[in-house]
Amino acid sequence: MKVIDHIKQAEQTLFSLEIIPPLKGDSVKTLFQNLDPLMEFKPPFIDVTYHREESVLRTRKEGGYDRVSVRKRPGTVGICSAIKHRYDVDPVPHIICGGFSKEETENALIDLHFLGIDNVLAIRGDNRKPDNRFIPEPDGNNYAIELVGQVINMNNGVYQDPDVDNANPTGFCVGVAGYPEKHAEAPNLKTDIKFLKDKIDRGAEYIVTQMFFDNQKYFDFVANCRKAGITVPIIPGLKPLTTKKQATVLPSIFHIDIPEALMDEVEGCKDNKAVREVGIEWGIKQTRELIEKGAPVIHYYSMGKSGSIESIAKEFF
Ligand code: FAD
Repeated sequence: MKVIDHIKQAEQTLFSLEIIPPLKGDSVKTLFQNLDPLMEFKPPFIDVTYHREESVLRTRKEGGYDRVSVRKRPGTVGICSAIKHRYDVDPVPHIICGGFSKEETENALIDLHFLGIDNVLAIRGDNRKPDNRFIPEPDGNNYAIELVGQVINMNNGVYQDPDVDNANPTGFCVGVAGYPEKHAEAPNLKTDIKFLKDKIDRGAEYIVTQMFFDNQKYFDFVANCRKAGITVPIIPGLKPLTTKKQATVLPSIFHIDIPEALMDEVEGCKDNKAVREVGIEWGIKQTRELIEKGAPVIHYYSMGKSGSIESIAKEFF
């Protein structure tokens, strides 16, 4: 079932989460051990991130280095299929522009369609490490809007391959990313929201936000989106802090602020066990207010750990 239909049919705020595929070589069992306890909160859908290849230096036995391309977290499609079969929950694979030609994207979408997957989150993807800017494939999509367009075209039976006649239309519900604190590369929030609206006008049906720790940023973002004519559901994304390090690392990775009050509490913690408790309490406060103000879904970023999410979800779902 489509995410948009889950939202339309819901009588109350829904619970959902994003998971990341295990590192290459790890077992999928750990992922299931994390997910199993969250099933009692009945997530109608679960997002699965996509991680492109990175360029890394590998040491040669005889000395020196080779630069090689590796994908550290493959498995997005396999995990989506496993989620569908193990839990009967709708998986939402993330699809990205980076590293894909349009033809490769088309073939990946055909696989997802054949697997009976009804949703995708269409995003540009980050830079290929260690590039310092996003470089699309020569025949790939440059921005998420182009990827949205490609999926919508397939939904209308229009494929890249000109030799395909009477093509079977896919039926994907497309979500896109939004940034309450602005995307790092956008000159300002107004421009960013204009490009976000373009993605919706191209056919995306809902927005999932980057994580934020200050609900006011989300409420202002929603108000600005509505003013700009964006009417689709805007799903807030929350990440409970679990370590002291995250309080400095997350802002530098995701270009978000940690509110002073939260930072003061984290700095006062003697160990990460205490930080985890602070993260849970903060997450509970954020969730309570978001539900009270009518958020359609609360979407939690698990980043491979589910204990804090379980503690928060127990209070509400
Ligand atoms: P876009 O919408 O293409 O925007 C990128 C930048 O370009 C923005 O600054 C925008 O303002 C600007 N822009 C947009 N259109 C135009 C245009 N036509 N002309 C000029 N400028 C334009 N990354 C992964 O690699 N894998 C994942 O699984 C993943 N999941 C994510 C899930 C969520 C909910 C979020 C919020 C992010 C996720 N990301 C993921 C990170 C994402 O790939 C990066 O933030 C990326 O840098 C931007 O993606 P986007 O889809 O927002 O890009």
